[in-house]
Amino acid sequence: AALLSVKGLEAKVEDKTILKGLDLEIKPGEVHAIMGPNGAGKSTLGYVLSGREGYEVVGGEATLAGTELLDIDIEERSRAGLFLAFQYPVEIPGVSNLEFLKSSVDAHREAQGLESISSKEFLKEAREACKQVNLPAEFLKRGVNEGFSGGEKKRNEIMQMLLLKPKLCILDESDSGLDIDALQVVAEGVNSMRDGERSFVVVTHYQRLLDYIKPDFVHVLSDGKIVKSGDASLALELEAQGYSWLTEQRSADP
Ligand code: ADP
Ligand code: MG
Ligand code: MG
Repeated sequence: AALLSVKGLEAKVEDKTILKGLDLEIKPGEVHAIMGPNGAGKSTLGYVLSGREGYEVVGGEATLAGTELLDIDIEERSRAGLFLAFQYPVEIPGVSNLEFLKSSVDAHREAQGLESISSKEFLKEAREACKQVNLPAEFLKRGVNEGFSGGEKKRNEIMQMLLLKPKLCILDESDSGLDIDALQVVAEGVNSMRDGERSFVVVTHYQRLLDYIKPDFVHVLSDGKIVKSGDASLALELEAQGYSWLTEQRSADP
């Protein structure tokens, strides 16, 4: 059975229809890359699935492990196992990273009917996660995202992902891009969490991230729909040829 099943998803932002009937099916353990021209709706897809305010669903359905996602709020989606990385530039002054992470993990565990983890045990896990993403343990004491550089925010998000252990992780590489060190941290985080059960959606404008994270499938999103799907070789083809051959082919169709 699919972990994520998206059927005919239509969504609009400020009265403009952005997603126009998007289908996507992801099985447990799979890594799917989503590429496509700027403005195609890639980030919108992540926002709509995670339940961000201002993104209105006007058609279709989406389920995660059988849970109807579109009917529940952003927190519930997170507790259902969905994680959206890289596009939440939230600063929460006065709340330390450690407190924030612990409360998220507790809420997730509670939602899954698991006992909460002891502070001592959690601190140990959090320190290990820091090490894995090359952040000093002092980061745990700092305010959430307070004064973090772009690279630190990304490492911090990967750390959250490592601790929350979501079922489906959506990583959206923003247009600003990642430097090569941050890219490797992201890739190592993802690769260390691949276990045959957890799935990933990697949104990227460039092929280079996929040199480090090998996708099982590559999709091209154009004008609010998936217009082409293939294996990892499709990313190389896109790198060499761009997207116009796909969009032109589409407009030539009757
Ligand atoms: P991509 O990530 O593929 O570059 P986006 O999902 O960011 O594309 O954007 C898709 C389209 O939706 C673009 O035309 C963009 O201008 C529009 N859009 C996205 N978010 C908003 C918003 N908050 N308000 C108005 N338009 C938006
Ligand atoms: Mg964009
Ligand atoms: Mg985007």
